[in-house]
Amino acid sequence: MLELRDVAVDYGDVRALWGASLTVEKGAIVALVGANGAGKSTTLKAISRIIPLSGGSIHFEGEPIHTLASHQVVARGVVQVPEGRRLFPKMTVLENLMVGSHLPAARQKRAEALERVYAFFPKLKERAHQLAGTLSGGEQQMVAIGRGLMAQPKVLMLDEPSLGLAPIVVKEVFAIVRRLRDEGITVLLVEQNTAQSLAIADRGYVMENGRITLSGTGQQLLENEHVKKAYLGA
Ligand code: ATP
Repeated sequence: MLELRDVAVDYGDVRALWGASLTVEKGAIVALVGANGAGKSTTLKAISRIIPLSGGSIHFEGEPIHTLASHQVVARGVVQVPEGRRLFPKMTVLENLMVGSHLPAARQKRAEALERVYAFFPKLKERAHQLAGTLSGGEQQMVAIGRGLMAQPKVLMLDEPSLGLAPIVVKEVFAIVRRLRDEGITVLLVEQNTAQSLAIADRGYVMENGRITLSGTGQQLLENEHVKKAYLGA
């Protein structure tokens, strides 16, 4: 469904991605794990066209998307939920959700998308008119994911959704990711929480120093000796 072939990205004269290739199958949760600074966020930003490619190509549903503008990538159904939630704290929950459906096609389906988000996160309906900045971290993450859902995603790319949350809330976030897949949304999950993300992933990729160094099913990677030593504290 989504395929990266030899994607390279440079920040000035510093190379951040050295020819990353990965495939996201329709209906799957694909986890991209690795240490801080490995290049995971850069990969998502390259897919979203927030930063330019220095080489390689990105295809979605068989067509190149690395030649499109960011808003066109979103319109195709490839939607990113950025690291750190990036909400508008002085706007209400509802207003933040609306931001996700500002493109024409999503705007037309706004009412039904909102019902879907509220069905998915009943708490957000209760808090619709509360300022986003007053919510807990976990609730803010729900708003960020809800905003992504408002854009009618086929693939939702989540950048570190569990970052900075209490362990019990982290569990909830991973349960939400599973529910997204069960709803038919394909998920590309970037996480430093290796154990929990591989545990729910159909497929995983390990990124180190801007390169994909390992891939396999989530289970295979959990059992991999290098993964155990480097990321699972074994
Ligand atoms: P994190 O979990 O910290 O987000 P990551 O795996 O997502 O880590 P990236 O943020 O993609 O890593 O960073 C990859 C490399 O690119 C790092 O060496 C980082 O310092 C560098 N980098 C990221 N953003 C920039 C930037 N705007 N300018 C220069 N270098 C950058």
